[in-house]
Amino acid sequence: IVHMDKVNKYFGSLHVLQDIDLEITPGEVVVIIGASGSGKSTLIRCVNGLEEFQNGHIEVDGNELLPNGKSSKALQTIRTEVGMVFQQFNLFPHLSVRDNVTLAPIKVRRLDRGRATEIANKLLERVGISDQADKYPSQLSGGQQQRVALARALAMEPRLMLFDEPTSALDPEMIGEVLDAMRELANEGMTMMIVTHEMGFAREVADRVIYIHGGQIVEQGSPREVFDNPQHERTQNFLSRVL
Ligand code: ATP
Ligand code: MG
Repeated sequence: IVHMDKVNKYFGSLHVLQDIDLEITPGEVVVIIGASGSGKSTLIRCVNGLEEFQNGHIEVDGNELLPNGKSSKALQTIRTEVGMVFQQFNLFPHLSVRDNVTLAPIKVRRLDRGRATEIANKLLERVGISDQADKYPSQLSGGQQQRVALARALAMEPRLMLFDEPTSALDPEMIGEVLDAMRELANEGMTMMIVTHEMGFAREVADRVIYIHGGQIVEQGSPREVFDNPQHERTQNFLSRVL
């Protein structure tokens, strides 16, 4: 569903992604690990066109993204087909929880309000916060807000979900509830690319773990391969610091 072919990305003279080749198959859960500044966020932001890249090409569910942002049509399609959850929840503060979830389906998918509300109620139930639907984001805990963000993304029926450190801004006691919702989604067969520092979660949920360093994929494999038997010295060093 994702094909990346020799993707290179620069911020000025800084070469942030170097010849990234990556294939992701439907239903696959891929966890991306690496040190701060290694390019993890940039990599997943390229997949839904939040960052431009300078050469190579990226195809998402049959839509091709071209270098230097020259793909406006594909970009629109990709934005509706790819959901993203960030470290900061980015909910609309002036909308209720339910309205946060129905907004894009109504505006972008042109669902009528009744149908959108039905879907929102189901999704809020699924992430365990149906009792909070009429509250505003500021009235919720971080863990609850992040589950709303997840429900909001799922309301667009995405073909692929991107997560960039979804639990990094949460108090420790709230991390579990968000990871549980993600685990459930993975078990239901959603295709997911996840940047996280939660190595226990990665080991449990990932079909594939990718270690990146300096904008390059240094090593990838099953959680067992990467965590228990890393081949590269850099991976070994990184893991010895985080495990
Ligand atoms: P972290 O774990 O801290 O989130 P990361 O692996 O997600 O790090 P990126 O955010 O992808 O790293 O950044 C990769 C490199 O690109 C870093 O050197 C960063 O300083 C640089 N960078 C990121 N965004 C920009 C930007 N908008 N302008 C210039 N440089 C940037
Ligand atoms: Mg990042």
